[in-house]
Amino acid sequence: MQATVALAGNPNSGKTTLFNELTGARQHVGNYPGVTVEKKEGTYTHQDFKLHIVDLPGTYSLTAYSLEEVVARDYLVDQKPEVVINIVDSSNLERNLYLAVQFLEMGIPVCIALNMIDVAKKRGIKINAEKLSTLLGVPVVPTIARTGQGKKKLMESAAHIVQEKREFDALKISYGDDVDRVMLDMQKEIEANSFLTDTYPARWIALKYMEKDEQILSQGKKLNPELAAGLEEMVKKVANHLLNTLDTYPEAMIADQRYGYIKSILKQGVIFQKYDQNRLYTSDKIDKVLTNRFLGPIIMLVVIAGLFHLVFTYSEMPVAWLESFFGWLGHGLYTILPDGLLRSLVVSGIIGGVGGVLGFVPLIMFMFFGIAFLEDSGYLARVAFMLDRVFRIFGLHGSSVMAFIVSGGIAGGCAVPGVMATRTLKSPRERLATLLTVPFMNCGAKLPLFALLIAAFFAEYEAAIMFGITLGAWTGALLVAKLLRVTLVKGASTPFIMELPPYRMPTFKGLAIHTWERTWQYIKKAYGL
Ligand code: GDP
Ligand code: MG
Repeated sequence: MQATVALAGNPNSGKTTLFNELTGARQHVGNYPGVTVEKKEGTYTHQDFKLHIVDLPGTYSLTAYSLEEVVARDYLVDQKPEVVINIVDSSNLERNLYLAVQFLEMGIPVCIALNMIDVAKKRGIKINAEKLSTLLGVPVVPTIARTGQGKKKLMESAAHIVQEKREFDALKISYGDDVDRVMLDMQKEIEANSFLTDTYPARWIALKYMEKDEQILSQGKKLNPELAAGLEEMVKKVANHLLNTLDTYPEAMIADQRYGYIKSILKQGVIFQKYDQNRLYTSDKIDKVLTNRFLGPIIMLVVIAGLFHLVFTYSEMPVAWLESFFGWLGHGLYTILPDGLLRSLVVSGIIGGVGGVLGFVPLIMFMFFGIAFLEDSGYLARVAFMLDRVFRIFGLHGSSVMAFIVSGGIAGGCAVPGVMATRTLKSPRERLATLLTVPFMNCGAKLPLFALLIAAFFAEYEAAIMFGITLGAWTGALLVAKLLRVTLVKGASTPFIMELPPYRMPTFKGLAIHTWERTWQYIKKAYGL
């Protein structure tokens, strides 16, 4: 059997050392066509397979920002090696996996060499390679390139990929709601026009437009200037939106979400650090407390209960103002208009109807403001991360939490976008179980009714009762989900990976825009606009 294997990785991860170890004297050194980047080739034989090995230039990313990156990417796209061995420096795993994620995003057959495992060990870092392999869905083999340790197993894994002819589905990570939505639209355009799709997957092209990849941008402009301009316009629009709401750029957002994806993997028992590095980043420091095994859930309950308290206390006055305004308006019109159908229509129908829904807008607004704060700050993703342990028991997935929250999990959502949000769940069974149970949540339509009943019967304990109703909804949803998962939609759970972006201080402007967007959606839905 014959196949081509490319060695890729960050500079200084040990590619050349491994290459020499594998190929010995059977090497050929040349240049990549047209550029002065060195190209090394050789062969490795093991039993019945002969592998042609290529040492790619060291890169940190697969976006065409530097010559090395262009050369490495072109090689992968044009030559289509059967397998890419991604050599990562285990003593610096988080940063090195950034490139690995990009291979996965491209849907390239990849096998990971956890190199310099000796250095990692010396620094007190222990890595669970099997767990990492399960979560990433690709083979992971610990190696020490300098001594050749692990190279046999590595090459067997690589050969296995070739023999199996295994398909690698492109990894789809969320780059945040705003970017995701635009990328879906872009993807549709790209597919409809078969724009560069002979060479790259459609979603990946959209991603490169988001990242302003010069090579793809200029290829696109040559191929179909009109469509290219349209795509660039879509990117510009979402870039403006991001700048306004989160004070960030699409490229930064994408990088953050990739690191968030890696962080979520590493936090699941993949890496153990004996001594605490004193150079922990702020986000990691905050996470040490907020996602702590014991403190985390307690803080989460306090935060959510606090949110209820704030919402119900501060929205009381504006709700009362609006109520008395509509009462005054109704009364005024009642006295002006003559008795009859018209009066009844205007006073009871229009004023009563419009007022009934509009009266709760302040409440909904406060709730959405709170949710926007949790989401923009990065805390909501941690809530999903922590709840995964609970969700798993009921046969759901940590990402299900978004669908539940959108449906009214913290009160005041809507099951329609909630059901739509289940789209991001990868396993069809978990998706079905989630979308069948999200309507249990306290959506914006049930909220006024609950609020009315609470005000009538338990006026003194508003927040507490509302919190209790919410817990009840969750309990019902989870129990039904469990029932579904052991009867109609049986099957194993998929591993949980959700992006854990760094914590950010939300901007007031961003919160205002996000709150308004959702409140407006609520108003539109309520009036069927
Ligand atoms: P490249 O830039 O990816 O080609 O990296 P090199 O192969 O040039 O390796 C960079 C340095 O790391 C060299 O000094 C190697 O000897 C060293 N090195 C490579 N692999 C290992 C390993 O597994 N363990 C240790 N301790 N050092 C390694
Ligand atoms: Mg090298």
